[in-house]
Amino acid sequence: MEIVVVKDAGFCFGVRRALDMAERAIEEAQLSATFGPLIHNPQVVEELQQQGVRVVEQVADMQPGETLMIRTHGCSPDIERDAQERGVVILDATCPFVARAQREAQRLCNESWQVIIFGEPQHPEARSIREHTGDSAIIVEGPEDLEELKLEDKVAVVCQTTQRIDSLNALVNALLPRVRLLTVSNTICGATTERQEASLVTAGEVDVMIVIGGYHSANTARLAEICSEVNPRTHHIERAEELQREWIAGAKRVGITAGASTPDSAIEAVHAALKQIAEEEPDT
Ligand code: SF4
Repeated sequence: MEIVVVKDAGFCFGVRRALDMAERAIEEAQLSATFGPLIHNPQVVEELQQQGVRVVEQVADMQPGETLMIRTHGCSPDIERDAQERGVVILDATCPFVARAQREAQRLCNESWQVIIFGEPQHPEARSIREHTGDSAIIVEGPEDLEELKLEDKVAVVCQTTQRIDSLNALVNALLPRVRLLTVSNTICGATTERQEASLVTAGEVDVMIVIGGYHSANTARLAEICSEVNPRTHHIERAEELQREWIAGAKRVGITAGASTPDSAIEAVHAALKQIAEEEPDT
């Protein structure tokens, strides 16, 4: 059985940068907590907790002088103000691509556009972008959410960085006949698009596709969705122990891809487990 790992599967630039920042701060004994789980990967969050880094949901849970890290998804401008008032030091690991989406939303809002964020209403990144518009932007998940919406003359679209480009197209097509002026800020991150495209190609070429990543990770869920569209034998798992032998019965080629918050160790563990199955069942 051949095992194909999608190029660039796993940690993206933003996540790697955030983890490097956290590692350096831990070495210097300067990291007390992260604002929400640092990445959508329970194993990594557990490791950080073992090193004494707490997860907090509000600045009020911090003591003056402690350091609070902002994760790749970013946060509301109010958090920085609250931290300053409380004497809490901020270590900002907001991914530069997310920061760009925040700035775009803020700018368009200031220029009196009705800002629509194409994203998931409950996702921390989409919420942080919205918070940069003073909570005035509207988050939509797709064209169906437009039906109830009162659209203004000037509408601007900004995207959560992990959206699919074809879904953005569908939203734009639905908006066009309904507005006079439309501007689209394509803030989808390049790493996300490339990973999605490479995963789609591999999924179409293998018998079984394994997608690794946290169940709460939006970009991993989207990868699984994309791969399932071309390969019904797609399985989303968080760790190697979840692999089931019957999934790969009769498979000659198995593909592996992973979300942006999946550590190399998780990919290697799945690779090793698949290799072991192939050796034990050479007919696979
Ligand atoms: S997926 Fe893109 S935007 Fe999100 S953290 Fe990674 S590099 Fe940044």
